[in-house]
Amino acid sequence: MYSIDDLRRRARALVAQETAAFRSKHPASKSLFERAAVHYPGGVPQHWMLDWATPFPLSITRAEGATVTDADGLTYVDFCLGDGGALFGHSPAPVAQAIAEQASLGLTAMLPGADTAAVGELLAERFGLPFWQMTATASDANRAVIRWARAITRRPKLLIFDGCYHGQVDETFANMTADGCSPKPSLIGPTPGATADTLVIDFNDCTALEAALAGGDVALILTEPALTNTGMVLPQPGFLEAVQALARRSGTLVCLDETHTIATGPGGYAAGSDLEPDFLVVGKPIAGGLPAAVYGFTAAIEAAMRRIQAARPSGYSGIGTTLSGNLLAMAAMRACLCEVMTATSYRQMIGLAERLADRLTEAVSSRSLPWSVVRLGARVELVFSPQPPRTGAEARAALDEDLERALHLSLLNRGVILTPFHNMMLVSPATRGEDVERLALLMAEAFDIFTGTDE
Ligand code: PMP
Repeated sequence: MYSIDDLRRRARALVAQETAAFRSKHPASKSLFERAAVHYPGGVPQHWMLDWATPFPLSITRAEGATVTDADGLTYVDFCLGDGGALFGHSPAPVAQAIAEQASLGLTAMLPGADTAAVGELLAERFGLPFWQMTATASDANRAVIRWARAITRRPKLLIFDGCYHGQVDETFANMTADGCSPKPSLIGPTPGATADTLVIDFNDCTALEAALAGGDVALILTEPALTNTGMVLPQPGFLEAVQALARRSGTLVCLDETHTIATGPGGYAAGSDLEPDFLVVGKPIAGGLPAAVYGFTAAIEAAMRRIQAARPSGYSGIGTTLSGNLLAMAAMRACLCEVMTATSYRQMIGLAERLADRLTEAVSSRSLPWSVVRLGARVELVFSPQPPRTGAEARAALDEDLERALHLSLLNRGVILTPFHNMMLVSPATRGEDVERLALLMAEAFDIFTGTDE
């Protein structure tokens, strides 16, 4: 067994070495970053772009298939894929073509277009829910679902699981505490009272769920089928079915946020596991990387929505944004659903993700490292704990900034990109077997540096 302190010490030394190597290899990215810093706080159009292990971000000049190329002319195999926005590869050809064709026919009109009906049919067939609405992002979709659920149930509370992430949604930025929840301390400008009606419990804890629902005041349970934003927490067998059954018994609605778990199959996790949520959200890759998201719901929800619409006074509904469901997004979504998110694509992605998980498991176990590898469809996660986590707290405890930084940076300097925040690897239909083998080899080499067996 290795001492974790030794692993971390070597990881920190590796970070210093790899940071210097990165700087020397990226003069063009550095210069663009410095120029951008004049008008963008932190030098980036969105502060998340600083969350990489690199001292400044790569500036991307081309993203194609499973690769990105930077301003210094270096090309990388991309296992981040825009944190899932490019799950089906960068600029998939059918989507690029649909965008090009639609571009000269109008981008947005705040009216439905020629693709609207077809996209509704495609979504209903694929996800098994009869009714749909569009938003520009998954954050927006989750916000809309929360609002509808409160309106339909006339209940105030939202139940989420500790360690979850559902986008820029004020009610969900809460940590579990001994006596309830509190707003996340990292939050910038928290909205006063935003989490006053939020309940946070452990994922995979049916007892806590039953207790939380007992008050009869929970409008909605919002969850991913597996927590994918703090490492990866898989549902224990029967947990999601229990969520569904307990929710039904107490008159609470369930929304499955499949923004990331769409990586498990053409109809997401719900379709693959015969779950029957009241609402389902998918964002990010649904239009091949163009900003677009959808939420689907049952006929019973649609009937309740109609009653609410009929009864409400005229004025703002609080749901919707101007560009939602625009002509361009619809064209891209149609192409993506028909020609990109196919059963063939998924077979290929998942087959390669299985191979990657096997290779990494082998690299971990042959070195007796106290880590595990978790796979969910085309998502693979290296977790710094011997057993896969079962709760958000266990997943958080397994995060290790030193090891993570060292791993990400040394791989990036060798031409392979992982997702920042944790150790997530996404396999797209454009990813090749040799890309997976290269990633596994580079990981194994980094493990040898951590353990000192390369010395
Ligand atoms: N839901 C989940 C599960 C997510 O992981 C994310 C983003 N990582 C979102 C919603 C929000 O997506 P967006 O940032 O596109 O609004």
